[in-house]
Amino acid sequence: MNTRNWVIHAIRKIEADFNRSADTHLIALSLPAYPDIDLYFKDESSHPTGSLKHRLARSLFLYALSNGWLKPGGTVIEASSGSTAVSEAYFARLLGLPFIAVMPATTSPEKIAAIEFYGGRCHLVDDPTTLHSESARLARETGGHFMDQFTYAERATDWRSNNNIAESMFGQMALEPHPIPSWIVTSPGTGGTSATIGRYVRYRQHATRVLCVDPQHSVFFDYYRSRDSSLTLPCGSGIEGIGRPRVEPSFIPDVVDAMLKVPDALSLAAMHYLAQRLGRRVGGSTGTNFIGALFLARQMREREEAGSIVAILCDGGERYAHSYYNDAWLAQNGLDLAPLQAQVRASAEQGGSLPDLPFMLSADTP
Ligand SMILES: *Cc1c(COP(=O)(O)O)cnc(C)c1O
Repeated sequence: MNTRNWVIHAIRKIEADFNRSADTHLIALSLPAYPDIDLYFKDESSHPTGSLKHRLARSLFLYALSNGWLKPGGTVIEASSGSTAVSEAYFARLLGLPFIAVMPATTSPEKIAAIEFYGGRCHLVDDPTTLHSESARLARETGGHFMDQFTYAERATDWRSNNNIAESMFGQMALEPHPIPSWIVTSPGTGGTSATIGRYVRYRQHATRVLCVDPQHSVFFDYYRSRDSSLTLPCGSGIEGIGRPRVEPSFIPDVVDAMLKVPDALSLAAMHYLAQRLGRRVGGSTGTNFIGALFLARQMREREEAGSIVAILCDGGERYAHSYYNDAWLAQNGLDLAPLQAQVRASAEQGGSLPDLPFMLSADTP
């Protein structure tokens, strides 16, 4: 088979896989303290590979194939802290391509096992600042292709339609009491999800605003305020999947209406509270988004606004059994979540206050 025919065949395989898949659910969760505000979670944990990165991986493969960047038998390489690599390993296997994930040596054993389950290989590096250069080197040496999610996430996703995450949520909201959400809450890893949602709501002329919630160890909030793209941090994020030590090209600040910064302990307390309310475990970034939703609910109530808020449920809790859901791990990391969890509960159920959090509204937001 020549390369052009192989590309057609490969795209067909990905489209057929999509055609066999169902959409992810939109789950309603009542906030007893806020009867005029309807909260929903877009449950991205129900993708075959367990996170919102399933959408990104599909888009990155289709983009690379359509650009002529992949060839039969060519190795696919990604720099990833885990979730993207798990989803890309799935699609590489679907196409019969070798896959190498370049990851920090600290990556959880659950994620390494998930990548290997899909036939991928893990290349662990001690210094996380070398992930990008190691990936580029492996691509050169194997004659393969470095996907580079942090550069291409925002442009690989079809933001106008094609059942992207935004179009899917608006479709699922159609019969709700407040079908056009006042806010959509997300948190930036690549920034791809907030870029897709921010562009979509503008293109469709919706009044919906996008809140992006940044974790403690990350430059995105300060970048949003200063627009200084040279900002860096010496450490990685404490919430897996979100927060970056440098400004990534896929984070598009001009389509984000507001940002909030949340301490890691508060995100994890919110994650534990949500797990109780939903009857199943969710990941840390979902806790971060929940704090964003509670912050907005309080703000809307103060302004006597009624409406809906949609937050992203980014992944399930299975991958964090050894860490965020392990009491010994929490104690080792100096995290005493009980008082914060009580505060989160009081906020959701009695309308109590949250700790003071840095918040910034775009000057452009009506
Ligand atoms: C990647 C990721 C995010 C953030 O999504 P982006 O589109 O990359 O900004 C949030 N939560 C989890 C668990 C992730 O893996």
